[in-house]
Amino acid sequence: MVFYGFLMNEKSNEKSQHPARVLIIEDEIAIGEGLVDLCEFKGFIADHVQDGVSGLEKALTGTFDLVILDLMLPGLDGFTVCNRIREKDRELPIIILSAKTSEHDIIEGLSLGADDYISKPFSVETLFARIQAVLRRSQKSLDVSDVLVIGSLRVTFRDFSGKRGSEDLQFTRKEIEILEYLWKFHDRAIPRHELLHEVWGYENAESVDTRTVDIHITKLRKKIEDDPARPRILLTLRGEGYQLRSLNHD
Ligand code: CA
Repeated sequence: MVFYGFLMNEKSNEKSQHPARVLIIEDEIAIGEGLVDLCEFKGFIADHVQDGVSGLEKALTGTFDLVILDLMLPGLDGFTVCNRIREKDRELPIIILSAKTSEHDIIEGLSLGADDYISKPFSVETLFARIQAVLRRSQKSLDVSDVLVIGSLRVTFRDFSGKRGSEDLQFTRKEIEILEYLWKFHDRAIPRHELLHEVWGYENAESVDTRTVDIHITKLRKKIEDDPARPRILLTLRGEGYQLRSLNHD
């Protein structure tokens, strides 16, 4: 494999406090194992499976931060795996890595919700630049394992799930990031521009349209509030911002 030689010269400089967990779904053993070595060398935790069925199963365990997905796979093909992951998890980053390089395949992959598409043969540098970019976009809530409980609401940050009474809830990554931030600072109201800066990562949040925040808050309230029109958990403090009510921690 091309990348073994490269690996020897590559410096590992991407170590972070919380290593990303990468799932590699690839039936060519040499490529799969090479990717595992490479990921570990870069400071990630990597797991490799060789067929679509077990790949899908693992991807949905909620324990991975990124999936690298081949398309031509035994069991289930990569398009189907991608589609099924997206039915259950709209946020898990997926990079398709495939020898299928027609524009049609690329468009198909991206329209099924993959975050990126890399053609084989690939350069290790390109692959890792893309992995870093995809992870950067999604890394904010990776290390959170806490459960938020407010009244009959229960939110498990790590797998984006929750319950309101007996109703099952599924959150997007952004919604979880918002909840997580509000929860972390639940003793005060959080202004919109602070959310835009801290959750969305906007450098100059004052100049960004705050409706982005409002839309997400509205969606969140529909999930977590008994009566979204009269929020009791996610409050708006006029002129100040949003605050998460903290029944259990006061
Ligand atoms: Ca294959």
